[in-house]
Amino acid sequence: MSSSPLSTVNYQLSTNLEPFIFRQAGRLVANRAAQAAENTDDRAGAVNRYALRALAPEEYAAFTLDLCNNQIDRHFSRFPEEELERINELVPGRPLMERHDLRGTLPRGRFFRSTLHREDEVVSVRPEVYVLRTAENEDFILNIEGGVYRETSIGFSFRMPECSVCGKDLRTCDHIPGRTYGDKACHFIMRGVLEVAEGSVVSSGSQGTGFVREDRDAPLLQGLARARERFHQPIELESKKLWAQE
Ligand SMILES: [Zn+2]
Repeated sequence: MSSSPLSTVNYQLSTNLEPFIFRQAGRLVANRAAQAAENTDDRAGAVNRYALRALAPEEYAAFTLDLCNNQIDRHFSRFPEEELERINELVPGRPLMERHDLRGTLPRGRFFRSTLHREDEVVSVRPEVYVLRTAENEDFILNIEGGVYRETSIGFSFRMPECSVCGKDLRTCDHIPGRTYGDKACHFIMRGVLEVAEGSVVSSGSQGTGFVREDRDAPLLQGLARARERFHQPIELESKKLWAQE
């Protein structure tokens, strides 16, 4: 699917369009104590590649995130495996932010390594992040350890949303993700990952979940609708209406 000549051609054609930027929701996965103990040596080495002085293990907390996978998500998007490999390479070194921190933009932690995790046909990117056990991070760490902060949101940019029905850039065709055309359900395949900007932790619960949903919906659907309006004006009203119903 990913290496078909058709999709390669369309990818080339689409490179004059601007990269597509959005957020993908993920989640924190628990680290079993046994696994943590096994990996301690490795982990310290990996963390200290980013520290300016060697950190002792008790100076930081480390968490694993289930960031994104190769399945079609509820917004009808999907990463092919080669893009997950790319994300896996890009994540280490990126900052972890706190979504609700109104004080500004300084990171809470740093992603220090990442692996591709396989379970049957599901391939997911599982990065690890370290957070210094400073007084200021104490509550943040407690909320993650206690399972209150468990949703994550990661910002990516990628070059092309490829339509699963016709293989074109979704911004240049009329198919709507989530709709069925004949026997094909439309989703889009995210190709050409350019950058992983940052990861954020957000709190769970109904408000937290709503925040994540809103966060993800806005850039994805509105961004796509805007891109289509610019690209072919004649369907502007129709596509706006369809997206607004989503
Ligand atoms: Zn299409």
